Parts: sequence; structure tokens; C-alpha cells
Amino acid sequence: MKNILILTAGFGEREDVASWNLRDALEQLAREEARVEVLDLLDSSYGRFHDLLKNTFRAAAHHAPKLWQGFYHLLGSTPNEEGQTDGLARMRDSLRDALRGIQPDVVVATCPIYSFLIGEIYRDGRTRDFTLVSLITDRLVTESPWPRAPADYFAVTSEAVAAVLIAAGVPEEKVKVFGFPVQPQTKSMRESTNTLADVARGGRPRILCVINGARKKAPKLLDRLLEHLDWDITVCVGQDTAIEEMAREKASTAPARMEVIGHTRRMPQLLREHHVVISRAEAGMVQEAIAARCPVIVQKLGSGQEEGNFSLLREANAGVLAEKPREVIDWLERAFRDQGRLLSLWRTNLEPLGRPDSAIKLARFILDQAETMTVPVPQLHALPAPEIGASALTNHKRGKLRLLSKKLLLCDLHTHTTWSDGKLSVPEIVDFYGQRGFDCLCITDHLCDPKRLLGKLVNLTGLVIPPGEIEAYFEEIEREKKRAWAKYDLMLMTGIEFNKDGYTAKTSTHLLGVDLKQPINPSLDIKETIAEIHAQGGLAIASHPHELKSEWGKNTLYLWEHVDEYAPLLDAWEVANRDDIFNPIGLKKLPFIASSDFHKPKHIHSWKTVLYCEKEAEAIKHCIRVNRDVSLTLYRDHRFGMEDHHLPVAALDEAPEKLAFEEARLA
Ligand code: ZN
Ligand code: ZN
Repeated sequence: MKNILILTAGFGEREDVASWNLRDALEQLAREEARVEVLDLLDSSYGRFHDLLKNTFRAAAHHAPKLWQGFYHLLGSTPNEEGQTDGLARMRDSLRDALRGIQPDVVVATCPIYSFLIGEIYRDGRTRDFTLVSLITDRLVTESPWPRAPADYFAVTSEAVAAVLIAAGVPEEKVKVFGFPVQPQTKSMRESTNTLADVARGGRPRILCVINGARKKAPKLLDRLLEHLDWDITVCVGQDTAIEEMAREKASTAPARMEVIGHTRRMPQLLREHHVVISRAEAGMVQEAIAARCPVIVQKLGSGQEEGNFSLLREANAGVLAEKPREVIDWLERAFRDQGRLLSLWRTNLEPLGRPDSAIKLARFILDQAETMTVPVPQLHALPAPEIGASALTNHKRGKLRLLSKKLLLCDLHTHTTWSDGKLSVPEIVDFYGQRGFDCLCITDHLCDPKRLLGKLVNLTGLVIPPGEIEAYFEEIEREKKRAWAKYDLMLMTGIEFNKDGYTAKTSTHLLGVDLKQPINPSLDIKETIAEIHAQGGLAIASHPHELKSEWGKNTLYLWEHVDEYAPLLDAWEVANRDDIFNPIGLKKLPFIASSDFHKPKHIHSWKTVLYCEKEAEAIKHCIRVNRDVSLTLYRDHRFGMEDHHLPVAALDEAPEKLAFEEARLA
């Protein structure tokens, strides 16, 4: 099921007409496999703010384009300002709730406020899990916020609007011209009855009069229309009860010739049934009239938008402006003269303006977007294979040739042994991870920078690899690699955790080198160390780069404080370390791994990395570097109760007092 959310603005004529037409088109195309919600947050939840906004919209759209632009400007330039209005914050929260509840695949925003609010909801860097389509139904003014509104696509009504967006810096591929989404035609609707053939045969002209402005002149206009005994009049009065009362009174004098209807969604149908419509030049009305090929006598011009809509008709010679009731009647008389010759001409001229399938095309585009959001799986197999060349075939295991294929690999790339401050020896840690079915283990004992004072002190404590024994460390792990592979199918790697500690968290760094071939001088600075790791084909990874919430360890924030400088140099960052998980690392979209920073058996209960790739050193490193098909998992081994001292974990662990003592020494 595809979920489509259309955000409409009920007080905006264009926005609302477009929203409901799009919904109809979506239902026509995909009634079975799409669920479409039309939501009007501007209409339902905003009390006082809503009235304010509504009046601003009304005033701006009808009387004062500058005010409208000013509002847009305010919203566009400072969308994040706290407390700008309570209403915006409340609206954002309602929208967030709606997104959570509906879980849309595509969201269509017909008003830029919605796009900005969505931008704000996802301001913390989380990925939007839907496609956002801005549906722009207005002609763009210079101050328009639309080009700055966050969106994946901009669906627009004309090439001219597209050009404005592109000139304002919107990438061309994001802009799609569909035309105004007019009511999608059903079979029965295609049978227009306003062709004038009946008038030519002496039938009665049918005139649709929409009272959506010029209310004062409305009584006079109706009187004049009624003077023509051979005309049939349909009057649409909308939701204005005073006008409705007036119109019904007039109609009662000639019920056979004048019908009055209130608010209706049948406008497209009515336009198809009438030879001509008298109306304001609102966008939705003009576009529907074009689609229905019903010429328009424009009775009143409001904002610049309406002028634009009217000029569309005037330039095509498909409509006229007639502001006084007398002028309206004059034009009607002229239009129907000679069996409706002028009206036929207008009607013919309307045809090239119309895009009767605009809503259907837009709906199809939106359904395609929903498709890509809901079926991401095939893309996985389309990924290029890691560049591991000839090693795709490997004979690691007992001389047998094995064809490698991708699978899920459970990995821990940050662990400590008795070579530094860990509790298990190298053979013990191999058995420990091997018995648990791990696929890849990297031992990364601490190596301190002797140039730093803290390093000098720690080097004396025996809690780091002694400076003179680094070669022996490499040799022992090298020996264990063969046993680990033969006995457990466990890929063992040699690594180092380079401690570059300063006196404060912000000057301290722990850097992992993973899959090293030989020792690296601990006195090198951070960038030199990274370069040396890379020269050996290893991975350089920032360990616990953010604030540790658990009691263990002190913070090492230097790399994170200089993230822009180091992100291009490092292969990955620990997004999780043992019990801690670092949201900012994830939100920054840095390549990530998760590690236990294992020092003793109970540290097995911790965050781990899961990769989907070939079980081969180069493929594993490639997978982390490109950081695709990488995930983290919270590993809990229930053979080891975390607090249960009867289980083997207690036997392997040191006495708590001794641990506390050693941790104090480290700190
Ligand atoms: Zn560390
Ligand atoms: Zn560590």
C-alpha cells in the first residue's frame, strides 16, 4: 500500500482545488494500492493563529500582495527562530504527529509553510523517509519563498514558473511541469454538453454565474440576466448566506430560468454543462474553465495573480473583462449572436491552453515516487562488487578453494588483551569470540605517545603495550590468526589503539588502526599516524569520539571538535562504543562502526558492527570504507547473565576492588 499525504490550504482557492483534483486523479489511477489523505493543518488546529494566518492570506491574496510577500519573507528568512509565533510551533508539532501517524511515502505540499515546517522537523539531520513534492499552483513572484522551500521535486503549472525556479537556483532535474492539476476527466465528463450545437439549432443559452466577488453588484447583475427570457441561468453562491438569500429571492420570480446552488465540488461538471461562465479570474476557476472549454467573462480582477490568469485568457482571445453588470450583458449578447459565433471562437481558442490530463500525469509521477520509497531492496544487488580482484577466490581454509559470497558478518574491531589493560590473553580472546561465532575480531591494544606527558606516565604502569614489546605483540597475533581461522572460522586482525591524551577531553584522541601489517611509531602526530595506517592498507577509525555516558573511560573529543578537518582523513567513526551510542555521529552521516571496546568478558554485552560482504579482509575493509551495508547491533549473550555471578563471567572476571583500583590508576 502506498501512502500519499496531500497538505492543502482550504482558504486558498488554487491550493484546495489542486489538492482535491490530485486526490481524485490518484484514486482514479490507483484506488486499490494507494491510500490518499488530504490534510488541512491551516484549517483545523489553529484557533487564533489560524484566523490571523487566514486573514493574512485573504488580505494578501485579494488586496495587498505586498503583505503576502512580507509574510512569506518572514517565514522564509527566519523559519527556525524560536517563538516566532506559537502557532507555527504548534503547527509543526501537529504536522510531525501526522507524519508519524500516516507514515507517508510521498508528501505533497501546496503551501510553502508546510515545506518549511517539514524542513524544521528534520532539522536535526534525520533522513526524511518520504519524497517531498512542492506543488506550486501560483505564478511566482520575486519574493516567493518557494525556491528556498526544501523539496525533492517542484511540480509547477507552466514553463514560465519552471524558469523562475531554475533562475533562483533550483536544480533543473527537480522541476517538473505538469500544468495546473485540473479535475481528471471521467468518461461521462468527456461528453461536454456546452458545444453550442444546440444553440445553433435554436436551443437556449446556458449561463453559469459564479458570485465569488463583486458582491455589491450581484443583485443588479442577476436582475439584468433575468431580463433575457431566452437564457437559462445557474447561480453559484458559495458559502455566503446573505448572497444566497438574495439570489434565491430573485430566482423565485422565474424558477424555470434561474437555479441557485450553494458551495459545490461539482464545478468542473457545471462548466461542462454551460456555454459560458461569469466569474473572477481565480486560478482554479480559470484552469477548470480551460479544461472544460467554457469561455470566461471575468467580472472582477483582484491581485496580480488574477491579472496573470486573466491575461492568459485575453492573450489567447478566449475571454473578456467586463466589470459592470451592463458590460457583462453586452458581452453575453454579442457572444450568443449569430448562433454563438464569437463564443465558438473563444471556445476553439481555449483548446490549446488546456492540459486536461495534468492531474493524471502528476498523480502518476507521485505514484512512481511512492514506488521508489517502498521498494528499496533491488538496489542492493545493483551495488558494484567490492574491488577485491583475484582474492574473490581464496584458499584460506586448509588449502581448500572456496568461492566467496556476501553474507552477514558479526564483527568487533576494538578489543584489548593482556598486552595492555585487557583481562584476557590473545589465545583466550580468540577462544572467547570464536566460541560465540564471531566472524571478524581485531585486537587493538593501547599504544601511548611517549612525547605526551600522560603517555610517559601510563607507559610506566604496564597498562599499555610496553614500548619495547610491540614486535612481539604483532608476532603473537600473527600466530593466533591461523588457529582462529582453522578452529572457529574467525578472521583475526592486528590493530592498535593510539592514545594521544592531553589534559582535557578536547585535546585527547584515541585512534584505531585496524588490520595493520607492522608497528607504527607512537610518536607520530595524528595525521602522520593516519597516513601510516593507510600506507599499510589499514583502516583509521575514531574511537569513542563523543561523550561517554557510562562510568568507564574519560572523554576523547579532539577529533569530533575538529570533525571537518578529520572527516576526510578517517575511514570511520565509532557511532557506538560499548554501552554508549553517539547520536551526533549518526546524524552527521559519518561512516560508522560500533565496537565493544572489550577489556573483560562482561564487555561482550555491547554494541557491535554487522557487515554484509564477503568474509575476506579486503572486502571487510572496503565495506566499512564505503560504509554501505553496515549496521550496528546490540549484542547480548544470555549464557552470561550480566549481573549473575554464578555464571562463567564471574569466574573470568577480576575482583571488583582490584578493577576499581586499576581504573583509578588509568584515570
Ligand atoms: Zn580508547
Ligand atoms: Zn579501547
